[in-house]
Amino acid sequence: MTDAAREKKLAKLTALRAAFAAGLPERLEAMAACWRAAEAADPPQTVPAELIRLAHSLAGSAGTFGYRRLGDKARELEEALARSSRDLPPDAAWTARIRELIDALRPMAQVGPDDGQGVAADLMQHGNQDQALPDNRHIVLIEDDMLVAQDLATQLSMFGWEVSVFDQAAAARTALQAPWPAALVVDIALPEGPLAGLELMQQLQYPADVSVPHVVISARSDWESRLAAVRSGAAAYMVKPVDVAALATQLDRVTHRTIHVPYRVLVVDDDEMLARHYVQTLSAAGMEANALTEPARLLDVLAEHQPEIVLLDLYMPGCSGLEALRVIRQDSQYASLPVVFLSTETGLAQQQNAMKIGAEDFLTKPISDANLIMAVTVRAERFRALSMLIRQDSLTGLLNHIAFKLRLEGEIDRSRREHQPISLAMLDIDHFKKINDTYGHPVGDRVIKGLAQLLSKRLRKFDIIGRYGGEEFVVAMPNTRPALAIDIMNELRESFGKLRFESSQGEFTCTFSCGVAAALPPDNAASLVNAADDALYQAKRSGRNRVEARPA
Ligand code: GH3
Ligand code: MG
Ligand code: MG
Repeated sequence: MTDAAREKKLAKLTALRAAFAAGLPERLEAMAACWRAAEAADPPQTVPAELIRLAHSLAGSAGTFGYRRLGDKARELEEALARSSRDLPPDAAWTARIRELIDALRPMAQVGPDDGQGVAADLMQHGNQDQALPDNRHIVLIEDDMLVAQDLATQLSMFGWEVSVFDQAAAARTALQAPWPAALVVDIALPEGPLAGLELMQQLQYPADVSVPHVVISARSDWESRLAAVRSGAAAYMVKPVDVAALATQLDRVTHRTIHVPYRVLVVDDDEMLARHYVQTLSAAGMEANALTEPARLLDVLAEHQPEIVLLDLYMPGCSGLEALRVIRQDSQYASLPVVFLSTETGLAQQQNAMKIGAEDFLTKPISDANLIMAVTVRAERFRALSMLIRQDSLTGLLNHIAFKLRLEGEIDRSRREHQPISLAMLDIDHFKKINDTYGHPVGDRVIKGLAQLLSKRLRKFDIIGRYGGEEFVVAMPNTRPALAIDIMNELRESFGKLRFESSQGEFTCTFSCGVAAALPPDNAASLVNAADDALYQAKRSGRNRVEARPA
């Protein structure tokens, strides 16, 4: 988040608090009036339902906006009102108690908030939640075998890294200074000694706010070497010959280059101010939160925002939270979507009811900002991990066949709506059976992973990549004309042909063939896939290691 964006959100939160405070006298007056009318009624009324509603809503929101004591008092009032409506006929003692509680509210409101600015505001002021993704693509490689080093540097550059090479610890030590590289890759044995690489790692001095992770590469795989690497603070250890795709994955990991997509949260609460407060709090913590105050629009909003967690108020006019949850669960695509109730309800029976129809959990209002953020994060994270497991291919981490087809259909709908072209590429590794037969299945797996890595690294963020089956991949390229798609695929084809894979029988390279299909606007997914398949077949027949295209 930029400073300006943070300021803006902080200002919004502050404005919400101010709006709540400004509305307080009117709310309290409404409660007092309600009570006066009840007392004046002849014959005396039992408990006025409107007063219970007002007390309930104040108990649920006051704490959230910093009026903790006021919220507690409103809860006492709500409980006293509810108890009487259930168990006892109102008597003089009860009437006095209610009057006392109502009178106590106003001074508490006048004192002002008793809870500072809340965690959300702190988060925003310090802004430690979402630092920008590091753009540093610079790697320093310290390796005394210059041929190995140059080869590694060239191959890493295909994964988008810029590599500087040093063949001695001394030279690296003098050169290592600001601007610091994103990571170091270091051999253990250097001309200065058998452990010179690790010794250098321990001697390097960084400024307090800089940390540069290092990955150790070594011909040795024994316990002593690995232990020495751990003691030097190594983030990873890889045995030579180094599998470049695996090294690229490690570098992504240790430099935190895996992009965190914000969790999507939907807040459903008829209290608009409260709903907006939750949204502000969660967005301050880096989430993408939306509020809905009108349950009738729930299904539309679910489809549009695809939340990973829903916070649902238990009491809403027109439809209870339990009913809303039943409606959600009726749609099988939301069968596992976590729905958490946020309510002032403390009764066990209600909670059990909610759990029975598939509520994820029950949080009691008012909930502190920190607890809300934590409760939502934990559940959204788990939901995302589980849905990824279902969608992902386990070997490569790419979308699996079914997930890809679903995404492709969505993209085709979109390109039809926006009158944009879409291109589809289908890739198949050449003579892959021979690779398995010659070098073994595990080496074949490494080739598949290597191509998957290359595709993920080199394609654009909005391209959709799937593993279609064995050694076949598919790439959907939205807003892309076939001529560009062909260029992109040819460039990838050349890079892939230069990747060298290690095996016990020495190094080898391999190639892929590719079919591209494009349409504006495409009729449907099937015709696009068939056309790409035809083009791929043509590429195989005319000699492999080439890209062919077909109109869809
Ligand atoms: P072509 O150039 O015509 O595509 O020839 P090919 O040998 O690549 O094609 P073919 O479809 O005959 O062989 C594909 C092989 O891929 C057969 C199968 O055993 C192997 N394979 C499929 N999935 C995997 C996998 O996950 N790992 C490994 N190592 N091999 C796989
Ligand atoms: Mg093949
Ligand atoms: Mg095949």
